[in-house]
Amino acid sequence: MTDSLFTQIYKGQIPGKIIYEDEHCFAINDINPQAPVHILIIPKKEVAKVSDASFEEIPLLGHLIYISKKLADLNKLSNNYRLVINNGAEAGQSVFHIHVHLLGGRSFNWPPG
Ligand code: AMP
Repeated sequence: MTDSLFTQIYKGQIPGKIIYEDEHCFAINDINPQAPVHILIIPKKEVAKVSDASFEEIPLLGHLIYISKKLADLNKLSNNYRLVINNGAEAGQSVFHIHVHLLGGRSFNWPPG
């Protein structure tokens, strides 16, 4: 199977800076930021989308949210930020390797578009 875009960035095959890494995940700045802070938190394990996740991936999914919170703290987002996971093309997903968008540094509207 071909590596996802994000795995290729992680492996250094596509330019991109890893701004956080641990045993289970890594993070990069979004190339097309939608807010002053726009970070993608990505599992090292390639799972295409949340709807493909299995029971055994529960700890990994929780880990991604927890690390999103840590990166929000590190970026001094004062507990005001948005976490987004797009699932499926019609919901806006364009890279089919699960990732959490951490968006902050501005106000957000609800409902999202
Ligand atoms: P999604 O549309 O939810 O799948 O999010 C994919 C995100 O990946 C988008 O916000 C893109 O801007 C971002 N993206 C695409 N290519 C790159 C890249 N080379 N480096 C960093 N972010 C990227």
